[in-house]
Amino acid sequence: MGREVFFLKVEPLRCRVICYNQECPWEVYCSRRNFPPSFQIKTLVDEHTCPRSNKSRSVTCKWVAGELVNKLRITPNLIQREAEEWFKVEYDISVGERMMYRAMKMAKDIIEGMEKEQYGKLRNYLSELLKANPGSTCTMSTHPQPEGLPKFRSLYICLEACKRGFKHGCRPFIFLDGTFLKGYFGGQLLTAVGQDANNHLFPIAYAVVDAETKENWKWFLHLLHEDIRDYKEFGWNFISDKQKVIFKSCPTYLFVFMHLCYSIECWIFWACSLGTGSSTPRGHAKSCT
Ligand SMILES: [Zn+2]
Repeated sequence: MGREVFFLKVEPLRCRVICYNQECPWEVYCSRRNFPPSFQIKTLVDEHTCPRSNKSRSVTCKWVAGELVNKLRITPNLIQREAEEWFKVEYDISVGERMMYRAMKMAKDIIEGMEKEQYGKLRNYLSELLKANPGSTCTMSTHPQPEGLPKFRSLYICLEACKRGFKHGCRPFIFLDGTFLKGYFGGQLLTAVGQDANNHLFPIAYAVVDAETKENWKWFLHLLHEDIRDYKEFGWNFISDKQKVIFKSCPTYLFVFMHLCYSIECWIFWACSLGTGSSTPRGHAKSCT
């Protein structure tokens, strides 16, 4: 690390690499063996007399972009300065500003392109889900565009096994919540989660929407209602955080709006029903039963 090397000879059967500093004796020479077929190092002078440097001519824009792809997938908000620091810590090399700018753009293009392709396969994915899980609800809606392909709007998935499992083996509680998606295209995830007899979370249905709005919650609750059926028949209890958009969208679907009780009341009721009181719904919860 920290030294530049030069490929003096690159041939199909042999390769010689020396240090960029002509006065430095460092050298590697390898050639191909027939039995067993492999490459063998014949000469190795593994000692540098040249000083270390954190710049390397072997560092190309393409290589930097390739290394950045995985890093950007984990931290999509990585900025150029942080990326430069990361290369110094991880590889002990300093990447110039211009090269880093080009590499960041190249890496983002690779990620964005891949995610675009994934969105293009959503309809096929949903039809495969339906084929493998008959009875499930998998719907997607799009915004038609005057020119070009339609734009993604929302996606709802409720698998038949989750539907049946919740009705037959879970406590009659449904937790509603939404959260931000941290991918390149953003959006929000709306979820309906139950709890099984072991106090484990049990996913019922989830949706991906552009934003957590009243219309989107209405749409989600409407589809959920169709899947889990009437609250009176099954006695479902709904719990959510105090997001106004959920409660504004509830009256349209009366199945979740018989009465409201405040967090402490709901908390006690819920804890008593578990018989343990150790696990609690997140934050201040509101319940509609
Ligand atoms: Zn050297």
